[in-house]
Amino acid sequence: MKEQSLKVAVIGAGMAGLLAARELKREGHRVIVFEKTSRLGGTWVYDPRVETDPLGLDPSRKIVHSSMYSSLRVNLPRRLMGFLDYPFLKKQDGDTREFPGHREVLRYLEDFARDFWLVELIRFEHEVVRVERVNGVSHEWIVEWRTREGESEEEEVFEAVIVCNGHHTEPRIAEFPGMDTWPGVQIHSHNYRTPEPFKNKIVVLIGNGPSAHDILREISSVAKEVHQALRASDVHFKKLENRNNIWQHPVIERTDEDGKVIFQDGSFVCADIIIHCTGYKYHFPFLRTNGIVNVDDNCVGPLYKHVFPPYLAPWLSFVGLPYRAVPTLIIELQSRWLAKVLSGKLALPCEEEMASSVEELYQHMNESGRPKHHTHQLQQNKFDYENWLVNQLGLPPLEDWREQLYFYALKKIPSDAGDDYRDWDTWDINQWIQE
Ligand code: FAD
Repeated sequence: MKEQSLKVAVIGAGMAGLLAARELKREGHRVIVFEKTSRLGGTWVYDPRVETDPLGLDPSRKIVHSSMYSSLRVNLPRRLMGFLDYPFLKKQDGDTREFPGHREVLRYLEDFARDFWLVELIRFEHEVVRVERVNGVSHEWIVEWRTREGESEEEEVFEAVIVCNGHHTEPRIAEFPGMDTWPGVQIHSHNYRTPEPFKNKIVVLIGNGPSAHDILREISSVAKEVHQALRASDVHFKKLENRNNIWQHPVIERTDEDGKVIFQDGSFVCADIIIHCTGYKYHFPFLRTNGIVNVDDNCVGPLYKHVFPPYLAPWLSFVGLPYRAVPTLIIELQSRWLAKVLSGKLALPCEEEMASSVEELYQHMNESGRPKHHTHQLQQNKFDYENWLVNQLGLPPLEDWREQLYFYALKKIPSDAGDDYRDWDTWDINQWIQE
């Protein structure tokens, strides 16, 4: 492919959309970023509103994009969260903790957008409602948007589309017999903001991820009792030693109409609220590819290296899908890669090779017993994917401290709802890296 400058649409002005826009701009592409809200930053724009359906099941509900809760602090050291050439520095007039609160991340993204002249590329309050190939066949894309509810819709043609709409908005919930007739309140963590509604309540919390830990700790400071339901095979009913109102149970077996929540080991509790901290689904309501790209059991595919659908590459791509990784690093490397692929400086394998690489991944997952919905979950023990991207880009190898610090940080996240792992705020990371 000869070097070229394309007209590219980026959907979303969160971290992924901003990084993609910067890299595309650097490569000389003409970029328009569509952002449905009035601010950049995506997930990091705290929104005190919650949705009308607290479980997020009603497709006609008014969507609130961000899942941030008021007290959220980052779960990775800021040193890891900064972009490769734009560190997440401590600002004297800001939140200087090693694990700052969400407002500091938003400020970092706003500074980044300003410093790289990205704001003028963004069309705010432009919600993309349709992305479809012109006449269903060409390599050009119609992007249709609406500016505000009720207003007429408009469209424009682009040569490439980058999907950066985020994947922490569409709740995935736990399912158990009796949940539809259980009389208490059920919410998903997407609609959790502050602990006040849980005051003096008996709460069952489902989940064991970073948000589940934060919310459990926070709720337990006001609730009467909190019962955590965990999937791990070795969990049995127990009261946590370091807390006087937190119990652990295996998963929920069923709920009864009298308010009882019965766990798999037979233990039960009469609860007021169940909170599902059970993750999110990939969701692309605007995307029409005639079945070429699908979401099946939370696997978006087929996607070569989690970015390009082989049959539509490089004209359609996705940024930021992998998880259990450092999101900023993945997003930045993917953005650099796709920008160079679009400009013709880097080549992709042919369609058949990309498709067989995807098949190999599926087969490998199948043989190793990994469920389909873990397709975009990266390996827990090394930075293979990141290093592969670095290699494609011809960049110098990533510094060893990144991988070491990430796995060190992961180990610090407790398996029990103990103290806040961010207490290592006073830890001198620079010295640790030097050593
Ligand atoms: P988002 O930030 O979700 O941005 C997507 C953007 O697309 C939004 O602005 C949205 O309005 C816009 N959009 C969506 N649909 C459309 C449409 N149809 N048309 C136009 N615009 C649209 N990561 C970390 O690195 N460290 C952390 O500590 C951390 N904590 C987290 C805590 C929580 C509770 C959550 C939910 C996530 C956390 N993450 C964390 C992950 C975080 O999501 C990523 O760091 C990153 O912000 C993802 O960026 P994104 O651009 O992919 O998605």
